Amino acid sequence: MLHPLSIAFRTTAFVVVVCAILLAIDGWNSWQSRSDQLEQMRVATSNLARAMSQQADDAIKKADTVLVGVVERVEHDGTDPEDVARFRKVLAMRVAELPQLDGVHIYDKNGDWVANSRRTAPENLNNADREYFVFHRTHEYRGPHIGIPVKSRTTGRLLLPVSRRINHADGSFAGVALATIHVGFFSKFYDSLDIGKAGAVALVHENGTMMTRRPYSSDAVGRDMRETELFRTYTTQGPVGIAYIKSVQDGVTRLNSFQRLDNYPLFVVAALSKDEILANWWRETLWHSGGVFLLTLIIGFIGWRLVRQFQLQIRTEAELRQARDALETLNKTLNALAMEDGLTGLANRRQFDVALDNEFSRAARNASTLALIMMDVDCFKQYNDIYGHAAGDECLQTIGRTVAKIAGHRPGDLAARYGGEELAVLLPNTDVAGAAVLAERIRSAVRDLNIEHAGTTDGFVTLSAGVDALSPSAKKEQPKELIQAADKALYAAKAGGRNRVCSAISPAAA
Ligand code: GH3
Ligand code: MG
Ligand code: MG
Repeated sequence: MLHPLSIAFRTTAFVVVVCAILLAIDGWNSWQSRSDQLEQMRVATSNLARAMSQQADDAIKKADTVLVGVVERVEHDGTDPEDVARFRKVLAMRVAELPQLDGVHIYDKNGDWVANSRRTAPENLNNADREYFVFHRTHEYRGPHIGIPVKSRTTGRLLLPVSRRINHADGSFAGVALATIHVGFFSKFYDSLDIGKAGAVALVHENGTMMTRRPYSSDAVGRDMRETELFRTYTTQGPVGIAYIKSVQDGVTRLNSFQRLDNYPLFVVAALSKDEILANWWRETLWHSGGVFLLTLIIGFIGWRLVRQFQLQIRTEAELRQARDALETLNKTLNALAMEDGLTGLANRRQFDVALDNEFSRAARNASTLALIMMDVDCFKQYNDIYGHAAGDECLQTIGRTVAKIAGHRPGDLAARYGGEELAVLLPNTDVAGAAVLAERIRSAVRDLNIEHAGTTDGFVTLSAGVDALSPSAKKEQPKELIQAADKALYAAKAGGRNRVCSAISPAAA
């Protein structure tokens, strides 16, 4: 059996372990789902960046393709007014086909307008000061050039210039072909993206110039981004990358995915707010963490009650055990009191009667002999009269001790106070002769006590004894017959002169 304390301890330990496991599982689950959310966010921003870079690349590519045709044609056909008029129609058609295109323009080597896609040719407009014009004039590079956003001098709209150099046949600078793309074309696309309230996207030139962004502001377009962490991350991580960056403007931490355009020196950034992405996760986590916490509390409470119940039960059991032990002790004492004679300490009459019945039955079963000695103190009335009742009691006690000492050797033997100054000894498995020997030993021992008794002939306290024995199996006898027989023998001993033993077989024995 377990130690009672250890049951309470084990229950407590069990409840604690269960609660800890519950909390651990919930914590682990929450962490896992947070990781999943963030992973989904990575995928989402990467996909967004890829889509944006594709869209920008396509839009510029289409404009650039027009430019390639324009350059080829101008270099081949020249810029006679006739050719130009014909050419303008083709340009107008191209511009009409491409919604991102604001216009296509041709400048001569001085920066003067030669032709454009519009119906009306602007008067006296010279663009020699524009960045793209200066670039082509000073570079022999024949590929596309993406300039920084400019405000249209005719419409006032923000435009992204894509340009190519036009050469003379000898390779010298002949002018610039320019396609202008609405910055708004990109902004419109970015506005259609689902990036949440705190999300942000941007199109940035590799030279560090902000082309456009969402949330849009006209101030942001053309801003120098070179000192921002975003730009630094892009330059160190390469054409494709991902990074958490805390915005210096609004303090929001975003996951930024950036990707360079395949064909042009631009890159796009798609950024989603970490808090916004995790908002749902937070809500769910709070809910089920609350639930688990409540569950833990309930289990803890039940466990606590259980432990208390255990302790209470253990205490009750201990108290019951104590009460039972006390009762048993009391019972034993009462039993002993009920079976014992108060004066002499010998068995009392009740115990004697019970023992006689039991031994009688046993003797009948075992076909053995049961012997009984009946004794009576001689002239005891006189003793009381002479020495007083208290001395009589004392005398009886002394005689009782003597009888007990002599008759108390075998386990089955029982010495009892039969009543008054009459004593009896029950002797199982003993025949008359054996019982007579014992009776004689008692008689002589009592005489040898030498208790003075002025009322008897030899001057000392003596007793007389009657002995008989029977085998109950032989005849159908009753216990009382044994008593009567022993009594009869005792009577004979008294009649024979006292201080002697008489047995049923030898009534005259002395
Ligand atoms: P006998 O030799 O014939 O037995 O004479 P006896 O005086 O003993 O005869 P009897 O049986 O008439 O008297 C018994 C006396 O024993 C009577 C009673 O006063 C006395 N006695 C019985 N029980 C007690 C007791 O517990 N204490 C005392 N002190 N005396 C007792
Ligand atoms: Mg008597
Ligand atoms: Mg007597």
